[in-house]
Amino acid sequence: MESVIRDQIVSFVLESPDNRFPDSDQPYFEEPLIGFAAGDDPLFGEYKKVIGEFHLTPTEIMKNCYGEQVGEATTVICWTLPISEKTRKSNRSEDSMPSREWALTRAHGEHFNTLLRMRLVEMLRFAGAQAVAPLLSGMWRPVMDPRVGMASTWSERHAAYAAGLGTFSLSDGFITEKGIAHRCGSVITNAAINPTRRSFADPWSNCLFFRDGSCGMCIQRCPAGAISTRGHDKEKCKDYAYGEVRNAVGELYGVMETGCGLCQTKVPCESRIPFARKKGNG
Ligand code: SF4
Ligand code: SF4
Repeated sequence: MESVIRDQIVSFVLESPDNRFPDSDQPYFEEPLIGFAAGDDPLFGEYKKVIGEFHLTPTEIMKNCYGEQVGEATTVICWTLPISEKTRKSNRSEDSMPSREWALTRAHGEHFNTLLRMRLVEMLRFAGAQAVAPLLSGMWRPVMDPRVGMASTWSERHAAYAAGLGTFSLSDGFITEKGIAHRCGSVITNAAINPTRRSFADPWSNCLFFRDGSCGMCIQRCPAGAISTRGHDKEKCKDYAYGEVRNAVGELYGVMETGCGLCQTKVPCESRIPFARKKGNG
């Protein structure tokens, strides 16, 4: 089952016409990374403490979808869709607004990510398995929590961490072996697949700032002052990326969800796990 799922996700991403800019053959996303978490991984229980009691477990979502007696969350299938090099490059040369390619990827590329979730659910159900995408389950909602600020009932990044795909960053992103510039997705199923081993030293080890106190380049890249050594100010980021940026270039680009992503480009973690600088190299 694992190889069938991997093949389905990879071929859909590489071949689908929906993974293409409207006016060219350029893809939004390159070949995805895929990982699997056990549905009963204790991490999902931990997230209720780390994020909040409102954050759902795979079992809660599955039972809500299929019924208390029947729903069984055995595996969480997770992926990250790396943003194409051409798009990353276009955003590198920006210093206040996202490039057109970046904004279109945030809007239409995320629509493609939704199609991928639907496609995988359909494929699994056709094969006789139970399957539900948390973001399309009817249970996903944003939450404003007094302790953690803006959050939601299911975090794709936290699911991806459970599935061994990477670690978190100073900028509140998620750094995989293909970097921080990507979109994440997940589907819960009762199909049994061996979980992917988490090989990272800790939940932040791919970020240089947490690894050895260096870097901090995302702090300088953020035009909104939303990143500091204390972390990421979600409110400031949202006001800028979905307020100021939308007002400035939304109409020009023809999309309402522009994102920003300057902190994800022209930084050492853009497209890989960054290396520490050797002593003496400045
Ligand atoms: S730019 Fe540096 S400090 Fe910021 S997330 Fe990437 S590795 Fe961490
Ligand atoms: S997305 Fe933009 S506004 Fe938000 S933290 Fe990154 S650079 Fe700053």
